[in-house]
Amino acid sequence: MKQLFRKLYKLIVNDVNSESELKDLSVLLRFLSLSYIIYYIFVAISLALLYYYAHAFIALICAGAIAGCFVSTYDNHTRLAFRLFNIVTIAGASYFTLASGWHMNFQWNVLIAILVLFYSLSIEMSRKLHYMKLLFTLIIALAVFTHIAPPYREGSELYSFFFQTLHAFFYGLMLCILAYCYCTKFNLAEAKLRQSNQKLIEMASLDALTQLPNRRSINEHLSMLVYENDRTGKPFCIAIGDVDFFKKINDNYGHDTGDYVLTTLSGLFKNIVKGRGKVARWGGEEFLFCFEGMNIQQAYAALEILRLQIEKYNFTFKDHTLKITMTFGIEEYSQIIGLESTISKADSKLYEGKNNGRNQVVY
Ligand code: GH3
Ligand code: MG
Ligand code: MG
Repeated sequence: MKQLFRKLYKLIVNDVNSESELKDLSVLLRFLSLSYIIYYIFVAISLALLYYYAHAFIALICAGAIAGCFVSTYDNHTRLAFRLFNIVTIAGASYFTLASGWHMNFQWNVLIAILVLFYSLSIEMSRKLHYMKLLFTLIIALAVFTHIAPPYREGSELYSFFFQTLHAFFYGLMLCILAYCYCTKFNLAEAKLRQSNQKLIEMASLDALTQLPNRRSINEHLSMLVYENDRTGKPFCIAIGDVDFFKKINDNYGHDTGDYVLTTLSGLFKNIVKGRGKVARWGGEEFLFCFEGMNIQQAYAALEILRLQIEKYNFTFKDHTLKITMTFGIEEYSQIIGLESTISKADSKLYEGKNNGRNQVVY
């Protein structure tokens, strides 16, 4: 039995991985259509047993039309299925209410149609409200009409009791299905929104080429380090590194090779700062490093290792193997001079290194 339910569930949701709104609607229509097919067949059998053959025949036609609606959702005809479902539900509700009287509760199927109508996002709100007004008018008209002109053959007490019980159960089930589908749709929409927000945050804080934090993102991080230093005295150093003669790489081997060098260097940088701080693309071929909880000697030692690694590294791209060097300037943050001056001092030391022959760490 469990397996049968699982197969049925798969049949209903199997092709709905797409992000399209129509797919949500298809799933809802499939759940409802299946329930309505069973409902109308049950109504037809009950009416036939009570000798209402004409009504039973109409109920079978409704079951057939709803089966058509179920099939259409697999055929990329969800819009058609949606219209068919609403027309059959509203027409069926009106017919059976007029034919069997208000007390049988067929009229509340119109409310199910209203809930389904509101589920579709592609219909404008003003149109939905317009339809809703029409459907409420229909319910009132049915109430008045069945009161003024009761059906020609009104059912017995037992007949009323049977249909009232059937409807209490059926409408309960419909509401549960609708609540489940509304809730799933809401949760999915929220999860998608969160995911795209996360993506936007990442895109806004990462450099597209190297995937390192960008200048804006590292500035935020530095402000946090300053705050921490003010409170706890935790030291940190800032270093700025610049690739030596990078322009020549672009000029001699092309921009692609330059990009490759920058991304490869970023990998080496990430390794060196792992567990010690952060590195960011400061601009062009300049990178800013922060070494957290380290004094200037410790930061210098780490950068010397990095400098030697870069010097020895063979940058192989397409047919060329290049040798590259970098120059760095380091400054330890101090509250007396502040963040901006710490960065400009690191920058001045970098240019000192450039003027003194490059490929060195100045501190
Ligand atoms: P120095 O040793 O004095 O730093 O010389 P340099 O050639 O490295 O410095 P310069 O500032 O003259 O040139 C930097 C070059 O970096 C110029 C610019 O076209 C290139 N560049 C900046 N961003 C990128 C990038 O994203 N990709 C590539 N391929 N090149 C870039
Ligand atoms: Mg340079
Ligand atoms: Mg530069």
